[in-house]
Amino acid sequence: MPLNPLDLYDIRSLLTEEECAVQDTVARFTDERVLPIIGDCFDQGRFPKELVPEIAELGLLGSSLPEQYGGHGLNAVCYGLICQELERGDSGIRSFVSVQSSLCMYPIYAYGSEEQRMRWLPGMAAGKTIGCFGLTEPHGGSDPANMKTNAKRDGDDWILNGAKMWITNGNLADIAIVWAMTDEGIQGFLVEKGMKGFTAQEVHKKMSLRASVTSALFFDAVRVPEANRLPNVKGLKGPLGCLTQARYGITWGPIGAAQACLSEALKYGNERILFNRPITSNQAVQLKLADMARRITMAQLLSLQLGRLKDAGKMQPTQVSLAKWNNCRMAIDIAREARDILGGAGITTEHCPIRHALNLESVITYEGTETVHQLVVGREVTGINAF
Ligand SMILES: Cc1cc2nc3c(=O)[nH]c(=O)nc-3n(C[C@H](O)[C@H](O)[C@H](O)COP(=O)(O)OP(=O)(O)OC[C@H]3O[C@@H](n4cnc5c(N)ncnc54)[C@H](O)[C@@H]3O)c2cc1C
Repeated sequence: MPLNPLDLYDIRSLLTEEECAVQDTVARFTDERVLPIIGDCFDQGRFPKELVPEIAELGLLGSSLPEQYGGHGLNAVCYGLICQELERGDSGIRSFVSVQSSLCMYPIYAYGSEEQRMRWLPGMAAGKTIGCFGLTEPHGGSDPANMKTNAKRDGDDWILNGAKMWITNGNLADIAIVWAMTDEGIQGFLVEKGMKGFTAQEVHKKMSLRASVTSALFFDAVRVPEANRLPNVKGLKGPLGCLTQARYGITWGPIGAAQACLSEALKYGNERILFNRPITSNQAVQLKLADMARRITMAQLLSLQLGRLKDAGKMQPTQVSLAKWNNCRMAIDIAREARDILGGAGITTEHCPIRHALNLESVITYEGTETVHQLVVGREVTGINAF
């Protein structure tokens, strides 16, 4: 039996029945609903908002949360497979789900009061309330401890001032989880659309994640009630805890993007006849394709083990950093190589590699740049903080 080039080590056989079912369901959604439109969405710089009700209907928003909050109690491997299959379509669609699930629903669940959970989570799981997560600021995202956005107590309220930059879903969001410096350290606030002094401005001229909304957020003396403060966390560990959840999913996403690129390169390469034979008959092209399959296999094994560690409650942030670094680098290199194998045809969005390559420029940067994750691993192995 020939092996599946997209799964050379038969990782699929390591999945449970439930995990396989989740993967198949999301794969079908991507094939039927995302792939037919996503090239045009990317060209037009348009997030396909019309897919949100279906994404919600499939249970992909907050899928790991308990059922009373609208979730399905799925395990970490299921969440990873959701990210993988969505990003096989486009990093923008996966980013939407990552932000809603890991960066917005997770902090409300983990750090919020029961009242906040019941108020927000069911609507977010249903896709009726969209969230965004504001941590990065215009002066530099890699050093979030140097936060300028601040909240000061005023009676029973807080007064919020500052700005956030590069915020996914910013202009779509009904609610923004905003991290701000207070006299008691960094705290999270639920800032609602329409609150006086809160504005969102979409970032245009993007060459990456064009099928995703990215915004700047501005807070000009926004009055936020105490009931909208996340009561159960203080300090940088609040936002970093959310990022660990999201980054875990991001280790899986680029596997899907890379599989899409390898698949397209194989198909195109087998049909492209030059010098009287398919270009895949050339050793130089085979080396590239073999290397793609090798790197995808390693990334799959990394993420699956990471997921098993997460489900066992043993996952460490450094392990997430290593996988985020490895898998984003793997995917961006594969997307660029696949683009090359397609020759001139590779430069249009008729084929997926250039779109994935451009998207992955964001994925390798957001949620901690490649360098930041390398330094996290470096700190772990040397015991020396080089930041
Ligand atoms: C499309 C997109 C969507 C995003 N979505 C969100 C979102 O929803 N919410 C959110 O809060 N943020 C979001 N971000 C922001 C993202 O997390 C930041 O862009 C990222 O953390 C890097 O911050 P920065 O862009 O300010 O770069 P900087 O922090 O200014 O870094 C610039 C360069 O310096 C390097 N560098 C930094 N420190 C060191 C060091 N100590 N040693 C060596 N090199 C170093 C970096 O690796 C990088 O190459 C998004 C970004 C993009 C592009």
